[in-house]
Amino acid sequence: MEQIENIALFDMDGTLCDYDKGMRTELEKLRSPDEPIYNPPLRSSYPKYIHNRADMIKSSESWWVNLPRFQLGWDVLEVAKSLEYRIMILTQGPKKNPTSWSGKKKWIDSNLGPDVDITITRDKGLVYGKVLVDDYPGYIKGWLEWRKRGLVIMPASEGNKDFSHPQVIRYTGENLEEVRSAMERVKLR
Ligand SMILES: [Mg+2]
Repeated sequence: MEQIENIALFDMDGTLCDYDKGMRTELEKLRSPDEPIYNPPLRSSYPKYIHNRADMIKSSESWWVNLPRFQLGWDVLEVAKSLEYRIMILTQGPKKNPTSWSGKKKWIDSNLGPDVDITITRDKGLVYGKVLVDDYPGYIKGWLEWRKRGLVIMPASEGNKDFSHPQVIRYTGENLEEVRSAMERVKLR
């Protein structure tokens, strides 16, 4: 049988890009001195004006282009490269915000180079890979539903601290060897 290609899929926000930090920085610039601080991740309980400001921030292409890197995702990326995985980007595209799509593409061009393949989708479960690197339990569950042997590396965040699954390794910055050996094992089978 022809060998199945070794593809590692990487999410962007909360994996390779520090979306929350980028949002926190811009929200702070728009805050009046006597307003309370509402930090990301944005919760539905936050006032409407905070959500409106966040929407305004996200409508700027350059905000997406200039998002800082998120180190946990880059640690895993280095492992994937050293194991000679083919790196592909798998990111969600906001329904009503095409500027985010172009901003994401430009971010990839300047941080990873223009040759990296990108899939922008509303349904990550459609896309094949041996490994998925993603911070969001909702997408992880959707992807694993069809991949009984797939491996997920989940960069740790406050939002995923209670999520666990036998095929998921939560990477905290402390267990890179565990990540590496799991990715090696999956690649060899
Ligand atoms: Mg994410």
